[in-house]
Amino acid sequence: MNASVTYDDIASAAERIAGAAHRTPVATSRLLDAACGNRMFLKCENLQRVGAFKFRGAYNAVSRLSAEQRAAGVITHSSGNHAQALALVCQILGVHATIVMPQDAPPQKLAATRDYGAEVVIYDPQVATREAISHELAEQHGYVLVPPYDHPHIIAGQGTAAKELIEDAGELDYLFVPCGGGGLLSGCAVAAKYLSPGCKVIGVEPAAGDDATRSFKTGVLCTVHNPDTIADGARTPYLGQVTFPLVQQYVDDMMTVSDDDLIRAMHFIWTRLKLVVEPTGVLGLAAVFNHRHPVEGKRVGVILSGGNADVVKAGEWFRKVEG
Ligand SMILES: *Cc1c(COP(=O)(O)O)cnc(C)c1O
Repeated sequence: MNASVTYDDIASAAERIAGAAHRTPVATSRLLDAACGNRMFLKCENLQRVGAFKFRGAYNAVSRLSAEQRAAGVITHSSGNHAQALALVCQILGVHATIVMPQDAPPQKLAATRDYGAEVVIYDPQVATREAISHELAEQHGYVLVPPYDHPHIIAGQGTAAKELIEDAGELDYLFVPCGGGGLLSGCAVAAKYLSPGCKVIGVEPAAGDDATRSFKTGVLCTVHNPDTIADGARTPYLGQVTFPLVQQYVDDMMTVSDDDLIRAMHFIWTRLKLVVEPTGVLGLAAVFNHRHPVEGKRVGVILSGGNADVVKAGEWFRKVEG
């Protein structure tokens, strides 16, 4: 298997997921444009099935497995949205799914994963790594490992989000993309550079989990361990073997935003645009909304990557902004 990803792979993933994944809307708002000082085009993956773009990659990956692989079943480790996506995809395609999840994963994400019919195995992130546990179970039972980001079929699926955004919004000057393990970012960067060659692609991470930014700037793979941030979908320890070279080749810059930046962006988009987006989902928006990167007067695309927010915690965070 070719371990890299081209635009053709993304176009092929788009055909495969058509009819299964939603073609999510692109939201615009004069109020947001005025607050940011530019034209904003928001790709609403919070409205995707399972509430996050991860359905795209998971569907592309599982639908490409052979009949024998499907019969064996699949396994993954995930902090939440990939787990739900894989569970739903497997329910649709009739494949047994085992999901390894940390015991501190948001409770509604654990429940949703079980509701989709997946078998959930809980582990303690302080004493074991999820990779080790899922590799062990995969060997014991013959499951096929479907990783959350570091696989060409996953990356190609995620890239369809940027393909649709540019098809619907037209060419862009900038595209801001949340970054955890870099699957969404690298797929979107490959699509953006093909469909809108002048578009600068910026990856955005939480400040506490800045491993990809450091890796990008130094050219050496850097890691973080269980970073303390409200952006739980970007607590990944490092970029992958497939995603790191793609990020280096296709991404123009990497940056971080603070948790307070995330809360201000979340509060605005919930209350003014009526869009429920989770902290990880506003990483890209937070960079522009808080003026952390100069983009005045430009056509700016943003991937709102997911909407599975803990509403009780959100209420606590919003008290800081409104208080
Ligand atoms: C998984 C996830 C991310 C990060 O995606 P990667 O491909 O790991 O970089 C961003 N936002 C949300 C909502 C996610 O679920």
